[in-house]
Amino acid sequence: MGRKTALASLAAMLLSVGCALSAPKYKALIIDGRNNHAWQRTSPHMKRLLEETGLFSVDMATTAPLGQPLDGFKPDFSKYDVLVCNYAELKWKPGSQIGQWPEETKTAFEKFVEKGGGLVVVHAADNAFPDWKAYNEMIAVGGWGCRNEKDGPMIRWRDGKMVLNHQPGSGGTHGPQAPFQVVNRDTKHPITKGLPETWMHAKDELYAKLRGPAKNVTVLSTAFSKKTGEHEPALMVIDYGKGRVFHTILGHDVDPMMQCAGFICTFQRGTEWAASGAVTQPIPTDFPSADQPSVRN
Ligand code: ZN
Repeated sequence: MGRKTALASLAAMLLSVGCALSAPKYKALIIDGRNNHAWQRTSPHMKRLLEETGLFSVDMATTAPLGQPLDGFKPDFSKYDVLVCNYAELKWKPGSQIGQWPEETKTAFEKFVEKGGGLVVVHAADNAFPDWKAYNEMIAVGGWGCRNEKDGPMIRWRDGKMVLNHQPGSGGTHGPQAPFQVVNRDTKHPITKGLPETWMHAKDELYAKLRGPAKNVTVLSTAFSKKTGEHEPALMVIDYGKGRVFHTILGHDVDPMMQCAGFICTFQRGTEWAASGAVTQPIPTDFPSADQPSVRN
């Protein structure tokens, strides 16, 4: 073998080893197809955000559009480590019917998380399925969809800890879109560990008065709502069986909400944690300060 050939084969070998080493560790599935938000824009953006970590390969599962039957929606969840829910069909009036996934799909989704799978719930995905008990246990609290006190309490932040408020009232509201501060309340959790305790999120909707079973939930971060005068839960983690759920209320749209370095970092870390129970990603140098949003255009 000539020297050049030897070098070329060595390079080819290193390249193939390199490729094998850099193959994504986790398989993620983004679920969308119905949402009163621009899922056609936000899903591909979230796919890119996950892929750029090098940790995830990402597939999409898109339901039939509104008004068409959902009978054919049967993704094989078992092929994945983590599901990212970007799906929400809104129930506007009590008694009105919304599309339901086939029973076998709902059961498979429940089993997937219960047996140790990861789930990430992004913004309006906590508006989905007001009548699906297991889904509401997974998200802990949700909004709209005719949710009120019958669906569970609101999470409130008092004297450094979470309390539940059962006061009657509708669940889910937000003020005008604006930048707001996020305060990390749990700084030891893998998702928030090492992040600045207070950071300025780019203009977004601050969901407030979310209601639900609020069981097995840990509030990682809160944001103060001028509308309710409360420190509303902004980032949460929920244990569901052996599964891990990361719920972020952030991310109304791509520009600028999902371009915020704080959204990106917590979404990427939250998805890794949901997939594996650990976080290996470093904190980006452009993570927002307490007063200044940091947007990646
Ligand atoms: Zn929104």
